[in-house]
Amino acid sequence: MKTFTVATRSRSDMIDITGEVTRVLRESGVKDGICHVFVPHTTAAVTINENADPDVPRDILMELDKVIPLSDGYRHREGNSAAHIKASLVGSSETVLVESGRLILGTWQSIFFCEFDGPRKRNVIVRVE
Ligand code: ZN
Repeated sequence: MKTFTVATRSRSDMIDITGEVTRVLRESGVKDGICHVFVPHTTAAVTINENADPDVPRDILMELDKVIPLSDGYRHREGNSAAHIKASLVGSSETVLVESGRLILGTWQSIFFCEFDGPRKRNVIVRVE
C-alpha cells in the first residue's frame, strides 16, 4: 500500500493522477492483478474519464455545480455540504485491472482526483495486488 499527495488548485478541481498511480504500480512489481485507488476524504473523490479534451473535466465540474449548488439551505454547519454530496455521488474509490504490469485503461481514459472543497493538500492511497 502506498500513499501519495495531490495539491489541488481551486475549490473544484480534477487532476489527472494516472502517472502517480502507474508509478506505484511499477514499484509494486505486480504484473497481473488489480489496482485499487482510494481517496480518504469526505469532500473529494476519484473517477475515470476522458483525458484528451480538458473541457470534459471542466464540463463535469460545471454540471455538478448546477445539480448540487454551493448553498441550498443545507444544515451542515461547516458550510461545505455541496462538497460532501459531490464526493458521495462521484465515489471514493476506483479499481483498475492490471495486465503485463500495465493499467488496463481505454485510450482516452485517465484516473482523476476530484476536489470539491479545495484548494488543499490531499492524500490518495493505492494498493496493488
Ligand atoms: Zn463538512
